Amino acid sequence: REILWMTQGFPIFYFKNTKYMLLFSTRIYIIHPCQIWENFSYLVLFFLQLQEVINMKSLEERIIKDGEVRDGKVLKVDSFLNHRMDIGLFNEIGKEFYRLFKDENITKIVTIEASGIGIACIAAQYFNVPVVFAKKSKTSNLTGDVYQGRIYSFTHQCFTDIYIKKSYISQKDKILIIDDFLAMGGALDGLIQIIDEAGAELAGAGIVIEKGFQGGGDLIRSKGVRVESLAIIESMDDGNIVFRPQ
Ligand code: 5GP
Repeated sequence: REILWMTQGFPIFYFKNTKYMLLFSTRIYIIHPCQIWENFSYLVLFFLQLQEVINMKSLEERIIKDGEVRDGKVLKVDSFLNHRMDIGLFNEIGKEFYRLFKDENITKIVTIEASGIGIACIAAQYFNVPVVFAKKSKTSNLTGDVYQGRIYSFTHQCFTDIYIKKSYISQKDKILIIDDFLAMGGALDGLIQIIDEAGAELAGAGIVIEKGFQGGGDLIRSKGVRVESLAIIESMDDGNIVFRPQ
């Protein structure tokens, strides 16, 4: 398994999980010189996928470089993710979510205001679908029937009601949820409840940063929901950020 060994134009070991491939990218790959051309397409594919892994590696590097750990539990990433937004990075994130969910026939992306909106909109350009975001207040603009959920806000440490207009999601939809963070799972759980109530199908959730040590992601995965997090933080004790190998 440490060798990507190609023969007769077909790879014997071909790792679809690109993150896994990166682990082996520093190892030896044996390709017979006569088969170079036969295997050219596989090589191109391999390097394209490797590029995607490298891009997502750059998310981890960015978190280490610009993230600030507060009280061992809160990660501030205001300088590139949820206050000043690095659109080049958002583009790579959107592309990666598309790569992960492109076969799911997504019809809508659902997120929650405010930090999820920017990321969801960039990702939606790849899927070519609308974005619906859950509002955290019921303003006079929000008329007609609404789905309502209640979530516990980790950052504000209080309960918040969220609303989505009923006519904006339906039974015909296959929905991808996108959000910036996953911590205890309250926000994701609230959105899932609304999607269930609407009778829509949930394809899964794309999360930029999951704080694995707070357990929300694994809890929601254990309920059978596909949760894809681009970076999972295993611990950040004493400001030292450790990622879960993926
Ligand atoms: P959860 O509901 O999973 O506990 O938390 C998810 C929500 O809380 C996200 O939508 C995000 O806005 C916010 N959040 C949770 N933890 C953090 C954190 O460490 N840093 C930042 N910036 N936001 C967080």
